[in-house]
Amino acid sequence: MFDWMADTYGLFTGWLFEEAVQPAMYALGLMDWAEEAFHWLDFFVFGLLGIGVVYLVCRPLEAWRPVERWEDGSAVWTDVVYTLLARLGILPLLAFVLFAAVQVRIEGLIADSGWVPPTLESTFPTLREYPLLALLIYIVILDFGEYWRHRFQHTFGWWWALHSVHHAQKQMTFWTDDRNHVIDDVIAAAWFGVIAVAIGVPPGQFPIILLVLRLGESLSHANVRLDFGRVGERLLVSPRFHRLHHGLLSAGATGKNYAVLLPVWDWIFGTADFDRGRYPSTGDPTAPESLASGGWLRQQVDGTKRLLRALRGRDA
Ligand SMILES: [Zn+2]
Ligand SMILES: [Zn+2]
Repeated sequence: MFDWMADTYGLFTGWLFEEAVQPAMYALGLMDWAEEAFHWLDFFVFGLLGIGVVYLVCRPLEAWRPVERWEDGSAVWTDVVYTLLARLGILPLLAFVLFAAVQVRIEGLIADSGWVPPTLESTFPTLREYPLLALLIYIVILDFGEYWRHRFQHTFGWWWALHSVHHAQKQMTFWTDDRNHVIDDVIAAAWFGVIAVAIGVPPGQFPIILLVLRLGESLSHANVRLDFGRVGERLLVSPRFHRLHHGLLSAGATGKNYAVLLPVWDWIFGTADFDRGRYPSTGDPTAPESLASGGWLRQQVDGTKRLLRALRGRDA
């Protein structure tokens, strides 16, 4: 199943590259960069695909039963900018440059030592026969990692200074998912990448896992009055569940509902709030106004200042 999806995707990007990118690069005399351009296109198309899927699922829901309506929705556009930069621009580039370099080094070291690191599938070979089950296990493990990363974002002062960019949004929509400080994005990518490599996620399944997690994450930020029912609320993070995390009362260090996809982690570690009646307004009352209503660059600069203050031990 996954092979079929990967093949179709490969055919499409290959076609796009040959028909559109290559001729343009040839005309501009940039053919030396062909390989880099192909990797870039790969990221770009994958980013577009992710945004498309999320939009098709979340936008109708927000139109159906919004929690809030705004006269001036300009703050939402800032989150659209975040999404485009994160999915199509800055982040893929950083991830590609950083991880390609690190990966080559680590692979070299491991190859030299002759040691083959164990993975989930080499420890439990039967998993190879059940790719769907393996995929689910990878998602559960990675989601567990995301739960703890998110808790730490609220625990350490310097990390909260970065994460407060995410929480400052008073007009929360499904676009808000990507509203993060760039440094926070890099940490998140490294955190996720290290766990994925450690458990041996096959490269072919990695994009599918990313799509599933991102769809869940975007949906949980959607401006929609929606919970998944008494049982469903305990199985999957809903817009209601994550809104409570963003609620004014929970801003800061004493939050609830940290889970990204599976609320079971909040339940196990005692941070769950399943009160289905509340849809609080969102925002971080301790953040300067610029973090809420400033443009992308303003928020990055002020987030960095907040980080520096926190690192110097002053109040974030
Ligand atoms: Zn948070
Ligand atoms: Zn959030």
